[in-house]
Amino acid sequence: MSQAKIRLATVWLDGCSGCHMSLLDTDERLIDLARRVEIVWGPLVDGKEFPENVDVTLVEGAVSSEEDLHRIRLVRSRSRLLVSLGDCAVTGNVPAMRNKFGADAVLRRAYLENAALDPQIPREAIPTLLPTARPVHELAKVDVFIPGCPPSADLIFSALSELLEGRVPNPAAKFG
Ligand code: SF4
Repeated sequence: MSQAKIRLATVWLDGCSGCHMSLLDTDERLIDLARRVEIVWGPLVDGKEFPENVDVTLVEGAVSSEEDLHRIRLVRSRSRLLVSLGDCAVTGNVPAMRNKFGADAVLRRAYLENAALDPQIPREAIPTLLPTARPVHELAKVDVFIPGCPPSADLIFSALSELLEGRVPNPAAKFG
C-alpha cells in the first residue's frame, strides 16, 4: 500500500524570492521530494485560498504589512509544522533594515523623494505597512528555523528530509 503524501505549502511574505529559488536549486532531488510530498500551496502552484490541514509550511520573508500579518495567522492555524525559511523570516534581516526609520519615512523616501515623475504615496495599491518588519516567530509559533540568506539547497533538502521522516530537524546544529 502506498504511503500518503505529506501536504507541503510554501509562503512568500516580505522576501526577495531568493529562498524559494534556493529550494528550486535542490535540482534533481526535487523529483525525489515530489514522490513524497504534495505541494498544496505557494508561488510554485496555483491556488486561491490557503488550504486546511497542511502538514508542513515553509515561510520565506519577514512580516511587514497588515496583509502579511493576516496571512501568517491563517497559515499558522492551518499548518501542523511551521518552518521559518531564511534570515528574513528568522531575524527580519533585509526588510527590518527600515525599522529604525519608521514606515512613513520609508514611504516618503520611495514614493516622494526618489520619484522623478508625479511623486505621490499610493494608498490603495500597496498593503498597509506595519510600523516595523518582524521575524515570523514574533507573530506566530515557529517549529523549525532554517537560517541563511538564502539557506543553501543542501540545508533546505536536509531539513525537509528530516521532516518527511517525522523528525524535527535542528539546522542550527550545522553551524555549531
Ligand atoms: S533571506 Fe535572503 S534570499 Fe531569503 S528572502 Fe531574505 S533576502 Fe531574500
